[in-house]
Amino acid sequence: MTDNSPLVGFIGLGHMGGHMSANLVAAGHRLLVHDLNDTAVRRLVDLGAERAESVAALAGQCDVVITMLPGPPQVEGIIREMAPLLRPGAVWIDMSTSTPAAARVMDEVLAERGVFRLDAPVSGMAKGAASGMLQIFVGGDAEVLATVRPLLEVMGDPDRVLHVGGLGAGYTVKLMINQLWFSHLVASAEVLTVGLKAGVDLGVLHRSLLASPAASSFLADDLPSIFVGDYDESFAMKLACKDLGLSIDLGRDVGVPTPLSAHVEQTYRTALAMYGPDAGEMTPVRLAEQIAGLELRQALAAVEDAA
Ligand code: NAD
Repeated sequence: MTDNSPLVGFIGLGHMGGHMSANLVAAGHRLLVHDLNDTAVRRLVDLGAERAESVAALAGQCDVVITMLPGPPQVEGIIREMAPLLRPGAVWIDMSTSTPAAARVMDEVLAERGVFRLDAPVSGMAKGAASGMLQIFVGGDAEVLATVRPLLEVMGDPDRVLHVGGLGAGYTVKLMINQLWFSHLVASAEVLTVGLKAGVDLGVLHRSLLASPAASSFLADDLPSIFVGDYDESFAMKLACKDLGLSIDLGRDVGVPTPLSAHVEQTYRTALAMYGPDAGEMTPVRLAEQIAGLELRQALAAVEDAA
């Protein structure tokens, strides 16, 4: 990095932000970090980041501030605190899965101070964050994006850092991606449990689906973790339910009925009530297994044992 490289502030060092900030440090960027969780901060400091004593200290020094927070209330809280302190010309990039309303609350103050903002939520799970191969969906001004693209390309796959429209478009694209992914999950859990209960071998059923017009990247790449009993605790059910709620709100806001989304959201909320807020995002499969009285991983193991 040259001396001209920006000083980057990073707030929110959880399952995603922890890896994303670590990748920025590894790429040679000078990073000031903040999180309510001191263990998360210490992990980054050990990797070479600097601890910001407060949000105010971070906001007043950085050229670029990245937030990776649970959702709208936290994003709104942080920007209310930071907006009056950010430096003229600074760029605030919110990479959380959130909504335009939470980011917009201080737009007047940001504009007065000459601060720019982008929404840049991500897909690719914690494993994509760890490998620096996230997909990033950017809403906002193309020229502002150009100034921070090198940072985004450290955290994401350079071919999939996509400019998807004006401010707010990134949040919308991300919510629609998650809505479809969660819908795939609920639908897949249903067909796998029914097919298995009807007597078809699970491995055969899975391979047949993949060879058919019903194939999807969800079935190919994401679902198989269920076969080893991994429901992906790196993305908590409380956050999945938050995303589904925001997606339904968006449909309501634009006047489009979303009966399928509502069903998927209710299935997720049922699974959250049964298995808890910190259970993994694929826990609705566990719900389908319980309803059908079987376990997909055991069905596969039984066939492998018999082979
Ligand atoms: P997480 O709960 O693991 O991390 C959030 C971090 O923010 C925590 O370390 C928490 O202490 C910190 N935090 C909360 N409020 C704060 C505040 N006011 N000030 C400072 N720090 C604060 O969440 P995550 O899984 O890393 O997800 C972060 C965002 O990314 C969410 O919006 C989520 O929907 C989205 N997302 C997650 C995944 C995933 O697979 N986990 C994938 C894509 C997108």
